[in-house]
Amino acid sequence: MERLQKVIAHAGAASRRKAEELIIEGKVKVNGKVVKELGTKVSSSDRVEVNGIPLESEEKVYFLFYKPRGVISAVSDDKDRKVVTDYFPLIKQRIYPIGRLDYDTSGILLLTNDGDFANLLMHPRYEIDKTYVARLQGIPTKQSLRQLEKGVKLEDGVTAPAKTKVLSAEKQKQRSIVEITIHEGKNRQVRRMFEAVGHPVQKLKRERFAFLTLNGLNAGESRELTPHEVKQLR
Ligand code: URA
Repeated sequence: MERLQKVIAHAGAASRRKAEELIIEGKVKVNGKVVKELGTKVSSSDRVEVNGIPLESEEKVYFLFYKPRGVISAVSDDKDRKVVTDYFPLIKQRIYPIGRLDYDTSGILLLTNDGDFANLLMHPRYEIDKTYVARLQGIPTKQSLRQLEKGVKLEDGVTAPAKTKVLSAEKQKQRSIVEITIHEGKNRQVRRMFEAVGHPVQKLKRERFAFLTLNGLNAGESRELTPHEVKQLR
């Protein structure tokens, strides 16, 4: 079940804001009845009409994007900062990111207009592995790494088991590069995990999402997922 205004927006019939206006103005019908309540939830079996025209579902598209640092994982920003969809000016479908990467984090991000697919991949039950490479202040001890692997206590709970690997360590500069694989998606999770063991993250990149990597892409570039890749992720 999705909110009516979201369904209208995702079908490409109007922006989310315009869809809200249309609902309030009584121009939207669900199963033949005018609905003016903004929070109304509908499912894919409900028939939605806008101005008397049934919603057509958009062709579904799926992209793998190499998000640069300094870009918001959203479709718009109230401070007018660059957003990920600015990199897809020619795509007519209303795509949006599946989950988020922080403003300062670079790396792999999927975008789609397929709500079911996005919900599926974001569901915690799916436990999709995501691998990050972090440049850390200091060099973590074996003990800290074990702690990260077992789970660290954050404000919003203990993290699930993770995998870690030290890729390099510079004693003189007191910094290191560490790979970490997690399958949860708490807000700023990787940064908070390293912070919790005393190693603030200086730079963060997501290298891998399930079996997908950034191979062949530079920051700011994207490619469509193949139908086979989409199938494998479902
Ligand atoms: N963890 C973080 O701390 N930041 C991200 O962008 C993703 C995971």
